[in-house]
Amino acid sequence: MRIVLAVLMIVTQSIAFADVQGLRLWHAPESSRLVFDLDRRAEHRIFPLSSPNRLVIDIDNSKLLTELKDLPTQTGPIKSVRWGTRGKTGLRIVLDLREAVEPKSFPLAPNKQYNHRLVVDLYPKNKTLKPAVVSKPVIDDKKSTKGNRNIIIAIDAGHGGEDPGAIGHGGIYEKKVVMSIAKKLAAYLKKEKGFQAKLIRTGDYYIGLRERTKRARKSNADLFISIHADAFSSPKAKGSSVFALSQRGASSEAARWLADKENSSDLIGGVGALSLDDKEDVLAGVLLDLSMTASLGMSLELGQSVLNSMGGVSKLHKRKVEQAAFAVLKSPDIPSVLIETGFLSNPSEARKCHF
Ligand SMILES: [Zn+2]
Repeated sequence: MRIVLAVLMIVTQSIAFADVQGLRLWHAPESSRLVFDLDRRAEHRIFPLSSPNRLVIDIDNSKLLTELKDLPTQTGPIKSVRWGTRGKTGLRIVLDLREAVEPKSFPLAPNKQYNHRLVVDLYPKNKTLKPAVVSKPVIDDKKSTKGNRNIIIAIDAGHGGEDPGAIGHGGIYEKKVVMSIAKKLAAYLKKEKGFQAKLIRTGDYYIGLRERTKRARKSNADLFISIHADAFSSPKAKGSSVFALSQRGASSEAARWLADKENSSDLIGGVGALSLDDKEDVLAGVLLDLSMTASLGMSLELGQSVLNSMGGVSKLHKRKVEQAAFAVLKSPDIPSVLIETGFLSNPSEARKCHF
């Protein structure tokens, strides 16, 4: 009898319902992201239907506890969202689409801010493929003297969309604070002769960390600056820090690039249009190492001068550039720094965010 009970318990546990507690929609320039908030992990399937274009999302053993309204469907591929039950225990969500989409879906485990999530990314299907980006100097006649091109600085506002980053004193969101700082920095650079700013993220949407470095490379960036604003459990933590890639992070990244043929074919395009795919393995390794070492050296130098300037306006956490294996700092050919501008969890530093 005990065994029967135990088995019954396992069965009832395994068909425990997942509650869909919320639904959020974010639009990025090249895709849209739909996020379901769940109280536990649930199995799901997605499949598209045509004429008219729809996307069906089936979530097993789940209940919808939220209303499907106030979603920003005025723009983007989703026209409207409907739902119904499927079988006895399933939930079916139907997206009515303006255009055919290429969907990708995956579950996300809980993190500090959210419980279980199911993410559905929609990419336009009929997008004509653009020819591969060829590295070429960008010359802005207004600002540069003949033969010299502007220095392109990629500014990466951390987090975005689904990922708010740190939530600071008074409920202030890191993603918003760093976006404002990024825009101010871009506006400042616009006024400087010989510089050109490129915002990696232009609105409130999420971009993967690797994708951020890819976008920097696509825009031929000479420097990459990622902007963050920390939070810590103690409200006393304060000060700014600047990070460059760690030596260990650089070595493991070099190995990764060499192992990836697709990567190595466009490597170092930003600096001298030097491709590694026709080089002997040993030579490719040496070239990559030289490029990484040079980038890291420049990152440390750049970081130190940023720290020195920031020392005048903000309290510094440390006087020297710190090093860590942050993914956004791993471009082998673009000097990159990550700036933790301050602690949002510190009331007096959070108060400096008058945006
Ligand atoms: Zn951050």
